[in-house]
Amino acid sequence: MYIIDSSKTPKPEETVGEYLRRLRESANISQQDLAEAAGIHLQSLGKLERGLTKRLNSKTKKGLAIALNIPEEFLEAVLNGKSVEGVIQKQFCPRCWKGGTTPDPVWTLSRAKYCLICGNVLLNSCQKCQEPLMSFKHKFCPNCGTPYTKKNK
Ligand SMILES: [Zn+2]
Ligand SMILES: [Zn+2]
Repeated sequence: MYIIDSSKTPKPEETVGEYLRRLRESANISQQDLAEAAGIHLQSLGKLERGLTKRLNSKTKKGLAIALNIPEEFLEAVLNGKSVEGVIQKQFCPRCWKGGTTPDPVWTLSRAKYCLICGNVLLNSCQKCQEPLMSFKHKFCPNCGTPYTKKNK
């Protein structure tokens, strides 16, 4: 399972250039290597890191996300000046999620409607009273006491 490494999340106030450079330097890779791995021009990467380019097209975003092993949503968050918490959706699979544990990013970091693991519809609220899920630390709905997930058979 992919666990979000907190050193890879963008810091508040960090620009996309600073963020990219920090990730690249912490992974100890050269601009040349990163540009190659991401499938972009070295010059484009240089411009990005120096803050001369503030926009990424979807191909660049995808390439950089794969090369740096981060979710594309992190890059989007930095580009839009949002915190990562803002891009994490409170969605879970009622079959695969174990209530109270860190959810799988395949539910929370995507706009998916279905679980990529079992195909079940993703939920963002209590199945009984529809009260929205407030925290992944909760196992039961604070409003009606219903468990968020079905018991594992
Ligand atoms: Zn599932
Ligand atoms: Zn409820």
